[in-house]
Amino acid sequence: MNDNWSVETKAIQCGWEPKNGEPRVLPICQSTTYKYDNAAQVAKWFDLEADGHIYSRLSNPTVDAFERKMAALEGGIGALATSAGQAASMVSVANVCTAGQHFIAAGALYGGTVALFTNTFKKMGVEVTLVDPEASIEELRKAVRPNTRAVFGETISNPGMAVLDFAKFSQLAKENGIPFIVDNTFGTPYLCRPFEHGADIVIHSSTKYIDGHATSVGGVIIDSGKFNWDNGKFPELTEPDESYHGLIYTKSFGAAAYIAKARAQWIRDVGCYMSPMNAFLSNLGLETLHVRMDRHCANALTLAEYLEKHPKVAWVNYPGLKSSKQHDRAKKYLKGCSGVMTFGVKGGRSAGEIVMDSLQLAAIVVHVADVRTCVLHPASMTHRQLTDAEQLAAGVTPDLIRLSVGIENVNDIIADFDQALAKI
Ligand SMILES: *Cc1c(COP(=O)(O)O)cnc(C)c1O
Repeated sequence: MNDNWSVETKAIQCGWEPKNGEPRVLPICQSTTYKYDNAAQVAKWFDLEADGHIYSRLSNPTVDAFERKMAALEGGIGALATSAGQAASMVSVANVCTAGQHFIAAGALYGGTVALFTNTFKKMGVEVTLVDPEASIEELRKAVRPNTRAVFGETISNPGMAVLDFAKFSQLAKENGIPFIVDNTFGTPYLCRPFEHGADIVIHSSTKYIDGHATSVGGVIIDSGKFNWDNGKFPELTEPDESYHGLIYTKSFGAAAYIAKARAQWIRDVGCYMSPMNAFLSNLGLETLHVRMDRHCANALTLAEYLEKHPKVAWVNYPGLKSSKQHDRAKKYLKGCSGVMTFGVKGGRSAGEIVMDSLQLAAIVVHVADVRTCVLHPASMTHRQLTDAEQLAAGVTPDLIRLSVGIENVNDIIADFDQALAKI
């Protein structure tokens, strides 16, 4: 691997680098287990003193190659693949924030993330404050407590399509000596470079554009390796871990301490690791990431402009549109605004249902960000478990239709929406 390679080249060449006579394409190592010549070697691995695979709950050669590619793409020091994006969100925060502690999240978030942060973390004794993403830095400072241990945000929020103010939230994290964790799912490493905008940790639901074909649920956490854990706030990283014979992560793993701890503690104990088959498919998806994203973005912009002009459409929310309040920030941080947008039709929720039910090419599915154009109604589907207030905070109004534009010919997609809107 060459550090100077562009994202496009890394998406294809990094991760699996075969030696003489090995398979050219990443092999699927569908094995739970690994064979050793002597017991002493195995003991070293168990003490995390040597690199190597022990058991596929902790690491696996196929998943390892996917992790290496993700680390290379984001420009991080290491990565950890998880069984779902939800597990990546959970582990990324829980790795630095334990019972009795607190973190801050920009409130425009994926519904599953809101549920995880406000319900499940609460039960585990970790508190979150969801802040208005557009609040001033002075207001944000008021949310900081002595026990605050992380700042969290989404590059482009699902489905609010709010673009994260990286400068403001990274400043908040830096001022307080705590990591800035960014969910770059809609950004993808191709459209957004969170580490260049102050993020310390990046996570993805690889289920979306990384896989890109709707075959594999998965997640990944990438560490920039730049955060200084040794500031007194993170004893779990800088003091002995009794569950590993007193190992000190920052001492044994240096800049790579965060991922080592996440793997050794969370993945070992909870078992939310990615499967080899899903790593194979996610890696295969990554090989065309840049080609797909260019088409997703171009199709979405064309469709957003079409919808914006359509007399039966009430509003369109796509940061790529010049009329969007988010347009300038999108230009600052993003190479493109992804294939996802939201819109509402005149006549509200019931008219929107007519459109959704009349679409022929675009299917109703509980998914987003794959090659096929699809729609979903968040208020009655993905965000159903949230209260009305939480839905509004996440940018979900009752008439909102989430549209994920695929990479079909855009004229066919427009024709489909044309006939569906005509049915109102
Ligand atoms: C889908 C999604 C998640 C959750 O990922 P899963 O793979 O479905 O568990 C987290 N964050 C964002 C932004 C998402 O779109």
